[in-house]
Amino acid sequence: MKQITGIPFIVLALLAVLILLPLTAPGYAGPLVNTTTGTAALTQDVPDRTPVVIRNVHLLTMESEAMKSGQTIVIRDGKIAWTGPDSEAQIPDGARVITGNYYVIPGLAEMHAHIPSVRQGEQYMHDVLVMYLAQGITTIRGMLGEPAHLDLREKTSNGDLPGPRIFTSGPSFNANSATDHETVRRMVREQAEAGFDLIKLHPGITLDNFNVLVEEAHSHGLEFSGHISYEVGLIRSLEAGQGSIDHLDRYMEFLSGDAANRPDPSIIYFGYDLANHADESLIDEAARLTAEAGVWNVPTNTLLVNVFDPRYSPDDMRQWPGMEYLPAQMIDGWAGYVNRLRSQDDYDPDQARRFLDLRNQLTLALHRHNAGLLLGADAPQIFNPPGFAAHRELALLVEAGLTPFEALKTATVNVGRYLGEENETGMVKEGFRADLLILRQNPLEVTHFGDQIAGVVAAGRYYDSRQLQEMLEAVRERAGN
Ligand SMILES: [Zn+2]
Repeated sequence: MKQITGIPFIVLALLAVLILLPLTAPGYAGPLVNTTTGTAALTQDVPDRTPVVIRNVHLLTMESEAMKSGQTIVIRDGKIAWTGPDSEAQIPDGARVITGNYYVIPGLAEMHAHIPSVRQGEQYMHDVLVMYLAQGITTIRGMLGEPAHLDLREKTSNGDLPGPRIFTSGPSFNANSATDHETVRRMVREQAEAGFDLIKLHPGITLDNFNVLVEEAHSHGLEFSGHISYEVGLIRSLEAGQGSIDHLDRYMEFLSGDAANRPDPSIIYFGYDLANHADESLIDEAARLTAEAGVWNVPTNTLLVNVFDPRYSPDDMRQWPGMEYLPAQMIDGWAGYVNRLRSQDDYDPDQARRFLDLRNQLTLALHRHNAGLLLGADAPQIFNPPGFAAHRELALLVEAGLTPFEALKTATVNVGRYLGEENETGMVKEGFRADLLILRQNPLEVTHFGDQIAGVVAAGRYYDSRQLQEMLEAVRERAGN
């Protein structure tokens, strides 16, 4: 077996990504006003639920790949009340009518989102939600939760704050927090009682503690999702009914046989070190087993592309859309991090390409075996601005071999299935939640929606592009740019 070198840096790397960065947010300029007035100002930005009619547009309901023209959508009380040919539409009195050469699809979900900690400032927390919303992300699953996020979930849901619908994990279970049976049981119980939507798994949990966690989580009907600890491994995670596996964690170990038995493997960057050991012929088997277990995957390919892909230098990534809404020092931090990682002895562009290619093959195999895929970009981390990064992940799914329509499903229809809301969420149909993205270009042809967004409907509240742009401008100013 080839000796793996350079582990200490990779340790740092992983910890930085998973734990340090979300807590530090270097240099956020913070609110220009105090937090209270900031909140009050934002409150006024939430539109009411006046009925909205989107007339005579191209509509992709997501029931099929057909883009239908001449369609009208009537929205009332947060739901889609009617949809059909414009000639048959009945326009409610007092409705706000929107029309134009627009393409309408369901609002998108970012299923590996991060909501900043309240320790980074309430305003920054709100600003990140605005960034998601302004890019047509109408649902997020926050993957490093804290009690303050429960309050945000409430406020965005009842219209006190602009933002997507929020699902949130509780605080992380990891080597430092999930230390023994009793602690694990208590944490699960407390998170269930507090009303968190799921448990977030980070690396370093022993198999023994994981087994206790599974038992306790099942008894509270609480999902557990995220990473897979080394001792647990892919097979046990599938058997335990993990909700979602994020970052394609531990698939590289599954593909790599004995090479995966390394000195201290709990810490290596999603199996980058195994890229030259992985056996491609096992990819189908991994996908088949995942489908059989009914476990979802959130590949977050953009995170790994940004970290490893020699095609994109930090200087290139700085220029990507959306960076202007984040503090310059945060972007500098990301650039420094990627530059350091890529200057390590164990960074090799060929190995990086091989690693990313294996991840693409895995993503496509999971899709082909009908193992559920969900869209997630791990924003805001490593050149992944909230919302913008989700569009980029769509493009990367297409790069992996999904069609644009199939890629869009991971952020819409699949989310409805994942949530057990297949008759409420993720399609444009009568009775469904009125979460919509209104675009100036055909989303089956373009996946980078950044400047194509003509409006967003979130839970029946209509934000036009001017309002979204103003909100973003305020975010940009507060970021100090
Ligand atoms: Zn994450």
